[in-house]
Amino acid sequence: MKNRNQVFDNVLDLVGNTPLVKLNRITSDFEGDFFAKIESFNPGQSSKDRIALYIIEEAERKGILKPGDTIIETTSGNTGFSIAMVSIIKGYECILAVSSKSSADKIDMLKTMGAKVYVCPAHVSADDPRSYYEVAKRLHEERKGSVYINQYFNELNIEAHYQSTGPEIWKQTNGEITHFVACSGTGGTISGTARYLKEQNPNIKVIGVDAFGSVIKKYHETREFDDKEIYPYRIEGLGKNLIPAATDFDVIDEFVKVTDEESAHTARQIAKTEGIFAGYTSGAVMQAIKQLGEEGRFKKGDKVVVIFPDHGSRYMSKVYSEKWMNDQGFFDSVNEASTQKIEY
Ligand code: PMP
Repeated sequence: MKNRNQVFDNVLDLVGNTPLVKLNRITSDFEGDFFAKIESFNPGQSSKDRIALYIIEEAERKGILKPGDTIIETTSGNTGFSIAMVSIIKGYECILAVSSKSSADKIDMLKTMGAKVYVCPAHVSADDPRSYYEVAKRLHEERKGSVYINQYFNELNIEAHYQSTGPEIWKQTNGEITHFVACSGTGGTISGTARYLKEQNPNIKVIGVDAFGSVIKKYHETREFDDKEIYPYRIEGLGKNLIPAATDFDVIDEFVKVTDEESAHTARQIAKTEGIFAGYTSGAVMQAIKQLGEEGRFKKGDKVVVIFPDHGSRYMSKVYSEKWMNDQGFFDSVNEASTQKIEY
């Protein structure tokens, strides 16, 4: 990965080496120094560029992919965008099987990035032949030489962060990092980064952020899958209703759960206090920091690093829409004016 002060051959040279930015206000009630690794500086505006590029280049190194071959994944989110971007540059066909719940905006964005999008019915079980999992599996079997990224079950997802995010943070903090806090979806980011950091210093505390409605925290504590933990929630990219093989539970010390509502308010607060326009899960990770800070878990001299996984622009019809916040009932409890119209 290259220094930014030069001319690049293509956008893929800009993947990784994202900045670490000190947080100056939002954490002012707590002891210690706090830094955000701002993954929206990746060319695809999220941390998923790292895994898309790494997994595809691994397949190339192993001779699995040749130009014109197909890359398949089941996502309308950040990973889909990143795979589409890498596919354009490297000359692969990108097929994304997405749920019919995905917004039209997202589907349009992926098509704009050259992806072939299969929209699959949302309300069928995962093993139904029409589900996006089954459609992706079938396409993968039918197309010789295709690669199925399968981010929740792909060990290379962890490896991508072990090779890039971990070393970058270690260098950027001069090895002085004391805490690493990150949201866990596939678990790739937290697992790969933590694995690297703990190899350098086993005393670094690693804290995962999970959603109420997800099974991950309970599984970490009991190693048992408890489906009573599962119920709908709004934050995308955080938590899960299954146990991802791309999560290494042994390198994570503990999990903290956050609510949709508090995470939404905290995401908006990041913009207003730090001038950083970040996604919903950045709000979630900062909400976890607040909860830990209020428990007195940080002390003077601590260096706490959090990941801001993506950019706020992907959430204009959600957390950054006053109408959406109102519709969720999120403005009521904090006495926040929902719409301030200035009359002339
Ligand atoms: N935040 C967002 C917005 C994401 O899309 C994801 C990925 N699902 C995450 C956080 C969590 O990252 P990971 O999958 O590496 O655990």
